[in-house]
Amino acid sequence: MSSIQSIRGMHDILPEQSPLWRWLESRVAEIFAAYDFHEIRTPIVEKTELFTRAIGQTTDVVEKEMYAFDDRNGESLSLRPEGTAGVVRSVIQHGLTQPPGLKVWYQGPMFRHERPQKGRQRQFHQFGAEVFGLEQPAVDVELILLGERLWSSLGLAGRVRLEINSLGDREDRERYRRQLIEYLEPRRDQLDADSQRRIETNPLRIFDSKNPDTQAVMDQAPRLADAMGEEARAHFQEVCRLLDELGVEYRINTGLVRGLDYYCRTVFEWITDDLGAQGTVCAGGRYDDLVAIQGGKPTPGIGFAMGVERLLALAETAGVEASQEPHAFLVSQVSPEATLDVAERLRSELPGLRLAVALSGGKFKAQFKRADRSGARYGLILGESELAAGNIQIKDLRASQADQETVALDQLASRLAERIGRTDND
Ligand code: ATP
Ligand code: MG
Repeated sequence: MSSIQSIRGMHDILPEQSPLWRWLESRVAEIFAAYDFHEIRTPIVEKTELFTRAIGQTTDVVEKEMYAFDDRNGESLSLRPEGTAGVVRSVIQHGLTQPPGLKVWYQGPMFRHERPQKGRQRQFHQFGAEVFGLEQPAVDVELILLGERLWSSLGLAGRVRLEINSLGDREDRERYRRQLIEYLEPRRDQLDADSQRRIETNPLRIFDSKNPDTQAVMDQAPRLADAMGEEARAHFQEVCRLLDELGVEYRINTGLVRGLDYYCRTVFEWITDDLGAQGTVCAGGRYDDLVAIQGGKPTPGIGFAMGVERLLALAETAGVEASQEPHAFLVSQVSPEATLDVAERLRSELPGLRLAVALSGGKFKAQFKRADRSGARYGLILGESELAAGNIQIKDLRASQADQETVALDQLASRLAERIGRTDND
């Protein structure tokens, strides 16, 4: 019988990869804390209706990509395809829209039934941030500054560029939608099949089409920027002015529409050219109507989400490495109880120590091989004679010349701490 494999597009994160994930997660958490964001964790499964209402019935995500299923009681549930809808639900449900100014971040797996390819999985991971109750352009800009700080903290400064646009307010988009349909109707034949269907249902989305003929038609289409009302226009101008003042580089891309219906006003994407077609590592924007659409008191909101797999792929092309080798490896020829006792005492005395122990026994030589392979800097050698004398040996496994010393067991922790401290500062 063949063994069961993981689901297509859903990947294991293996032990050799997890140090890089940990590294990214801790950097991101630090940056969020620096901007006074607090973590929120919402369920991975929500009522399907939550997503159809928030994201929009005629978007790719809802039309084609949702993992929806009937619960045993017949209710339609979905694995979350993105994080904002659940966070908005939670914020409304728990009355967190007051006082204004809540800043939350989240992380976790998202699920979309897309065609798996490089940079596109069916289970992928996002970090996201959301701000509620603040409509000032400075809030949009602070989120962008947070992004910029994060890229430099991850060693990615200069590898991602910022594109921004404004989608105007809802009435602006309604007006513009009619103009766009008027423009597209006579050009229907030049569009791909999906886009033809979208003319009536969701013409703005056609800007997102990757089809070159469709793109050529859209390049000549009227621009939302020209249909935008005074308030949305002023908001966008202020965002751009602040970015200029603060020296943030960006490009205005009037074709940037984003794939979800809830966005309005400022939208932005951080894009890299180092990963091929799937180059957007972070995307977001305002959703000033979403809380009301979900049944809450009208509350402006803005947020972004970044794709962890794409960020890690980018970090790897940038040469970032992370590993989690043990500091020390205990090789032992004494009884398991004596070995475990020495190891436990050492772990108690040196919190933070990463200690591996050769519990499978075997000859010293075989254990040393394992110690070398583990990447540990120090071998701790415990033989019968050492134990009888209350001693242990510390050996630098990476020293070119033999570097081995005998220390009393009750001095082991302080001596090892000294030596580890020294290598940390190397
Ligand atoms: P794309 O245009 O690449 O399909 P999107 O507009 O659907 O992206 P969002 O919903 O805005 O993406 O999600 C934010 C980020 O999450 C993306 O910029 C990307 O980094 C990541 N992401 C989205 N879908 C996937 C996926 N299927 N696999 C891996 N990462 C993804
Ligand atoms: Mg997508």
